[in-house]
Parts: sequence; C-alpha cells; structure tokens
Amino acid sequence: MPQKNFHQTIIIGAGISGIKSSIELTKNGVDNIIIEARDRLGGRLHTIKTKTGIPMDLGASWFHDCLVNPLLKKTFDKGNVNFYYDDGKWDIVTKKHGVVSDNLKLRPVADEVNAYLKEICTKKYTPATDVSVREACYDYLKQKKFTLTKEQLEYAPQLVRYFELWIGSSWDLLSARCISEDAHYGRNAMVTNGYITFYNDELEELFKLKGHSETSQLIENGNILLNKCVYKITFDDKAKRIHIYTRDRVSKTIEEFECEYLICSIPLSVLKLQDYAQEGAIQWQPPLPIDIRAKLDRISFSSLGKVFLEFSDCFWPNKTDRFLCLAEPDDNLTDAIENGTKITFSKNRDSSWYKIDPRSSPDPFKYSVLFMNLSRAAKVPVLLALIAEPLTQYIESSSNEKVWQFFEPLVANISGKKTIPAPISIHHTVWSSDPFSRGSYTGLTIGDDPDACVDSLIEARDIFDGTGRVRFVGEGVTKEASGCVHGAWMSAKKEAGKIVSKINRSKL
Ligand SMILES: Cc1cc2nc3c(=O)[nH]c(=O)nc-3n(C[C@H](O)[C@H](O)[C@H](O)COP(=O)(O)OP(=O)(O)OC[C@H]3O[C@@H](n4cnc5c(N)ncnc54)[C@H](O)[C@@H]3O)c2cc1C
Repeated sequence: MPQKNFHQTIIIGAGISGIKSSIELTKNGVDNIIIEARDRLGGRLHTIKTKTGIPMDLGASWFHDCLVNPLLKKTFDKGNVNFYYDDGKWDIVTKKHGVVSDNLKLRPVADEVNAYLKEICTKKYTPATDVSVREACYDYLKQKKFTLTKEQLEYAPQLVRYFELWIGSSWDLLSARCISEDAHYGRNAMVTNGYITFYNDELEELFKLKGHSETSQLIENGNILLNKCVYKITFDDKAKRIHIYTRDRVSKTIEEFECEYLICSIPLSVLKLQDYAQEGAIQWQPPLPIDIRAKLDRISFSSLGKVFLEFSDCFWPNKTDRFLCLAEPDDNLTDAIENGTKITFSKNRDSSWYKIDPRSSPDPFKYSVLFMNLSRAAKVPVLLALIAEPLTQYIESSSNEKVWQFFEPLVANISGKKTIPAPISIHHTVWSSDPFSRGSYTGLTIGDDPDACVDSLIEARDIFDGTGRVRFVGEGVTKEASGCVHGAWMSAKKEAGKIVSKINRSKL
C-alpha cells in the first residue's frame, strides 16, 4: 500500500526554480509535488496591480543577458510578454547641477574606474584580502587624481555607485573583487505587462503535463501545496527515505511527507539560518555537512528595494529612460585624496553598523537612487525607484508619508520643477523583512566567495547517504546568471535532470 504522503521527489519552494524542476520531472515521468510556505505562487516573481490597473513588479522586472538568455526566445515565441529595452537616453542628476552636462565627462571617468576594477581588482584580491568598491575607488583616485578635474574627483565615484542599484548593497560593503568578476552578456529587456505572465506560462506548461486544464487544478489536486512551511528534514538510512515536516501557516497543523529525492529551492538566505526558531529555517538531521555550512557563511544576501510612485500625469522629461540621482560627494574620500587626511574603510561584512534610524528623516541626497521612467517604458505615469541597503530597510519600515517625504526632493530635481504633485499611490517592496526571502538575492559583499558556495551545493555528495539524492536549485546555486531569473531556471533544469538520470539508471 503506498503511503499517503509519499512522493518519489519533493520540491521545496514554488518560485521559478521550483516550477521548472517540477516541469522537468513531470516531463520525464517522475512523480513529484511542490511544498510552498507562502499563500501565493511565484516566490520572487510577484506582480501586483494598482487600483488603476497598472501592473507593478515587486520582484524581477528585466530579462537580463539578452544575448544568451534562453527565456527570452521562449517568451517571444509565446508572444504574450511585452518588453521594452530601457537602454536609451539616461540622465545623471545631482543636487548641485540638476541634469549633469556631458561636458563634465563623468561617464568616461566612471568607465575608467570600472576598467580598473576589472583589470586590477580581479587579479589583486582574494576573498581574504578583498576590499570594498568604495576603497577600490579611493585607490584609483589616488593614482589618477592628476588627470581629474575637481568635479570628476567629487562626482565620478558617486557614479560608480551605480553598482549599488544593480546589486542592492552599499558600496561600503560591495566587494571590488566580486563586482569585477560579475559578467553580463547583452542588453536588458524590461517586462512591461508583469513578469508573472512569464511565470504563468511556465505554470501552464506544468498543468498541461499533469493533465489539467488550469492552474487552480495544480493546487486542488495537491501538485502544489501552499501555506506549508518546511521546518525539519530527516533521513531514514535503513529505508533510504527523506522525511519532510511542515507546519501549516494557517491551521498550524504539522504534517510529514516522505520522498526518495529532494529538490530544495529556498533562497540561500533562508538555507543559511541556524536559529531554528526563525520562520522558514529548516533543521536538517543529520545536519548539513560542515563544508556546506562554512561555504554558506561566505555568501551574503543583498537588499535591492523598489518603490513605485504613481502620479495622475507624467510631469518629468519624457524622452529619458532612466534618471540616476547621484549622492552628494563623499567628503571623507575627497579630503583623503586632496589633503591626505586619514580614511578608514570597513571590512565588516555585517551591515548593522550603518543602518538608518527608522525614526530619522535621512537626507535623500546622501544616497544613490535610480528612477526608471515607466511613462516611457510602459506608457503609465509611474516612476520606479531602485534603492540599495541601508535605504531599503528604512523604506520598508516607513509610512507612505515618510516615503514621499524622502523622494519628493529627488523627483522635483529630475523634473526641474520647484513644486510637484504628490503621487496618487505608493507601493514598495518588503523583501528584507519577508521571512521567506530575507533580502533580494545573493549579494556580493567584501570577502564573499559565491562560486565556492555554488560548488559545494552542487556537489553536495555527502548529504545523507552520499548518493546525491538532495539537489539544491535557484538563483544562488548557479555560476551562470547568478541572482537572475534565467539563472534560477537553468539551475533547476540541470539539477532536476540529474535526478531523472539517476532514476533512469536505477531502472537498468
Ligand atoms: C527586488 C528584486 C528585483 C529583482 N530583479 C530582477 C530582474 O530584473 N531580473 C532578474 O533576472 N532577476 C531579478 N531578481 C531576482 C529574481 O527574482 C530571482 O533570481 C528569482 O525569482 C529566484 O527564483 P528562485 O526560484 O531561485 O527563488 P524564489 O523565487 O525565492 O523561490 C523560493 C521559494 O521557496 C519558498 N520557501 C522559502 N522557505 C521555505 C520553507 N521553509 N518552506 C517552504 N517554502 C519555502 C519561498 O516562499 C519561495 O516561494 C530580482 C529580485 C528582487 C527581490
């Protein structure tokens, strides 16, 4: 008699990598279910709609690496996802200059700093000797100050902080070594009708493979279980079975599931947790091997934040795709370069030292903020602000009134107007305080060694009986396109494929 809760393979997490894993297994006749802690599907793909019907992507927005991204063609062929390449005109804006003239030549200097990071920092630093992007900028400026104008010295480093809005961490913490190794291929296409459209296309593939006619049947038929938080995983060595324990987030009921193979797609920020009282944390018995634990300690999670400001009409320049608002010059850095004053750089991977007091009103011109002009990309009167930590955490804990108090001077500055209307709606992300993401994606902090972590998780031979029955997938378990949707998707395809091969071999 088959046991009620037995499945050949169990997948933890219904983000893109969980769904893709299920597709690969189902296609190859492997019985599987997905267990998801949240009450919704999609994980870090999450589209909401405003009252006026505008789709807003709280998670991913772009198909990155368009030269090599396998999802782009797939989606294009399907024909229901709308794209906009938002790589047209972009303005650099400062408090002092408004829109900065190209004559200041900040971009060529920032390009040279990038070349310095790529050429020098990759070779110079190891995870043990690594420095922050801010410190690497200082090294560059010290060497090249005789070639720079005063304004370049002051503002070009602030332009290099563009990386903050790509990764989601402050340049005080960003690793110069990892940033310079972070490779990207081709253009980036912004999805304008909701990234969830792509996820839903994947769900459609899955429900058809399962013999259903709509997504809801995946849930009704128990192919995907929602609201079930996995808190413990054990292994019965005699029976060669993995036991998975879940707590229902609504009824609090505990359930036990059994499987032969396990695919774990939870974010590494959650996998790292060792305080099992924390929501989402999973206790492994026997524990995860020491090597994996040690490698998980060498990765961090960043905190990219998004803020959508919806207005009645567009009142900002509408020929520009992006507005990059630079922070005001870093006086400590400039002084150290010009007058040789002493400057210290943090080597501390822990970000708690520079948090913003939630009761304060931070100066908006101290932070880098990138505004995407959705009036151009999606023909809606919305500005989407990308922000990095520590601002992300501040915004997450602030009322809409405080959020607007922060952004108003920046929006006024990009629009070139003294008085501007207030937004009709404000929506912002809360990924840092969400227990099932605990940040945005795998980061690149000083001293991190993400490749070593990927290797240890992909090998993961010594978990349980050493036969590779546990596979890790997701955006943090890939060297190709780490942090990205297509990276998560590709890792799932590969790792689920390994389970299929194993099962096929065992049938011979
Ligand atoms: C603000 C933001 C912007 C981004 N922008 C882009 C972009 O433009 N382009 C791009 O390519 N990528 C972007 N990304 C990254 C992209 O969203 C992710 O790489 C991708 O969605 C990750 O998919 P995943 O399946 O690996 O993880 P997830 O989507 O996080 O799925 C993991 C699932 O596991 C569940 N889970 C966690 N713990 C448990 C537990 N204990 N029990 C059961 N279930 C659990 C979670 O609820 C979640 O549903 C962005 C991410 C963020 C947050």
